[in-house]
Amino acid sequence: MKVTSISIKLMLVFLLLLSGCSTNKEHKKSQEQSPTKQKTFTLNSSRIQVNQYATINYLDYVSGNTDAIEYNTIDTSKLGTYEVTYSLEDTTTNSNQEAKTMIVDVVRTYENGIFNPTDLTPETITNPESITALVNKTHQIPSGWVPNDLVEVAGSSQQLRKEAAEAFEAFYQAAKNQGITCYIISGYRTNDAQALYWQRQVEIYGEEYASLYSAYPGRSEHQLGLAIDISNQLTGNRLTEQVANSDIGKFIVSDGYKYGFILRYPQDKINITNYGYEPWHMRYVGKETAEKIHQSTLTFEEYIEMNSVKKTV
Ligand SMILES: [Zn+2]
Repeated sequence: MKVTSISIKLMLVFLLLLSGCSTNKEHKKSQEQSPTKQKTFTLNSSRIQVNQYATINYLDYVSGNTDAIEYNTIDTSKLGTYEVTYSLEDTTTNSNQEAKTMIVDVVRTYENGIFNPTDLTPETITNPESITALVNKTHQIPSGWVPNDLVEVAGSSQQLRKEAAEAFEAFYQAAKNQGITCYIISGYRTNDAQALYWQRQVEIYGEEYASLYSAYPGRSEHQLGLAIDISNQLTGNRLTEQVANSDIGKFIVSDGYKYGFILRYPQDKINITNYGYEPWHMRYVGKETAEKIHQSTLTFEEYIEMNSVKKTV
């Protein structure tokens, strides 16, 4: 009996050792066979803006295994758009450098954090016809692109794309039913109209103010035919922050999403949108997206970024 028990115990220890050995071997083998699966580094931002003459702390934009990371530096004394490529040598094969590129815009940044859009080269979007197309200071509409389904918004000479116009008419009617007055100020704009608008803002108020409240031609949501500015007054100082305190300003925030609209440039998200607070500027994104954005309190930029990340996983 005693001998048998010892034999079993020994056998168990032997088996455990064997299985342990084989697991280690397997683990090592899988590491050797697929070196790309080893933990490397993550780029925290795909694009950043830095002020002219700023000192860039390059490692602040990567995380993970950054000990052996290499990167090129850029001259921030010159305005423009540059690339910083980070690379990491694969330690298991001493080759196959993994490289990731971050775009860096060297721009004139004002005290309020707003940067001048004329200094950088924007990315040209490939989906201008999509109701969720993202257009901002770093994303422009392809040159010459014009929506092909513009219609006049009922009771106005302003135009929007058909789907947005119908949604706005429902929004307008709902506001009216609650006794809320709403004046349509500006809908679709051509590139020429936007260029004139930008130029006039620069001439009258200067580039800092224009960068805060106006879009550079090619980078305005109004050119998509999906944005509309509305106010509580028809004449005078009609597009001011006072719109926020009016009935229609409140209605945009409380009910706009039900019709597919979002308040595109909220007061507390200036650091993300890089535009001043515009309680009058509504952007049509469709009911589903508008509801998600309304519930999450994300900006459109954050929502698009989150969804593009999801798609690539
Ligand atoms: Zn607007």
